[in-house]
Amino acid sequence: MLYVEKKPEKLIDENGLRTDGRRPREMRPIKMEVGVLDRADGSALVEWGGNRILAAIFGPREVHPKHMALPDRALVRVRYNMAPFSTPERRKPGPDRRSIELSKVIRNALEQAIFVEKYPGAAIDIFVEVLRSDAGTRVAGITAASLALAEAGIAMKGLVAACSIGKIGDVIVVDPGHDEDMWGDADMPIAVMFEDRLITLLQMDGPMDESQFSEALSLGMSCCELIYELQKEALRRPFVFVERKVVGGDQTV
Ligand code: ADP
Repeated sequence: MLYVEKKPEKLIDENGLRTDGRRPREMRPIKMEVGVLDRADGSALVEWGGNRILAAIFGPREVHPKHMALPDRALVRVRYNMAPFSTPERRKPGPDRRSIELSKVIRNALEQAIFVEKYPGAAIDIFVEVLRSDAGTRVAGITAASLALAEAGIAMKGLVAACSIGKIGDVIVVDPGHDEDMWGDADMPIAVMFEDRLITLLQMDGPMDESQFSEALSLGMSCCELIYELQKEALRRPFVFVERKVVGGDQTV
């Protein structure tokens, strides 16, 4: 049967609830688990809403082909890949323009947190495998990869936590889901390195005015702080899980 996406009548109902029943500042449920692949140097599985993202780290290791090695620092490579079964309709396996771009975006967000100069001539390979996608795979991928880097013992300036902020009509919402990503008015993925609170990724798809942008940025920081707390917890325990956490302080929004 052909899968046809249907636009919901309303993305926010008269009670202020979103299509999956969340309030604007409520995140989707998140589970993080570290050390899920024994053959990788570091690994993590992040289940975030309907996303299932596996990150694996190999390195520091020898660079192949050798001529790509950098004399004064590590070569950080990222492959973001969506499994053919990760979307409602089977997608063609292999890289496409989007996955090549996302690999670069994820590398930029993570590389700044790695002490690359500690590993001259070596490669650090980061694999982000999307097993199931449900909007926000780049931010879930960055979050998972950062956990996996930490487990691999790669020297880092801090953990990188990421999340996305959306806009539906004039309402700023945290952690947009699939319908909101598809039919919402704006989407702003953000990644932050802690404790420095250094923004290592900020993208925007769709317009926001100045006050909407400043609300989105502030909520983005709060979401990333929550993700960072969960990451620290996940590195101490086998796994961590939170149900629909509200960010930004106000429990009524
Ligand atoms: P992100 O996953 O970081 O939000 P996009 O905004 O490009 O990145 O994608 C949003 C969502 O659209 C994805 O999470 C996924 O659920 C869906 N999607 C992306 N590419 C495809 C595809 N080729 N086929 C079906 N769904 C897709």
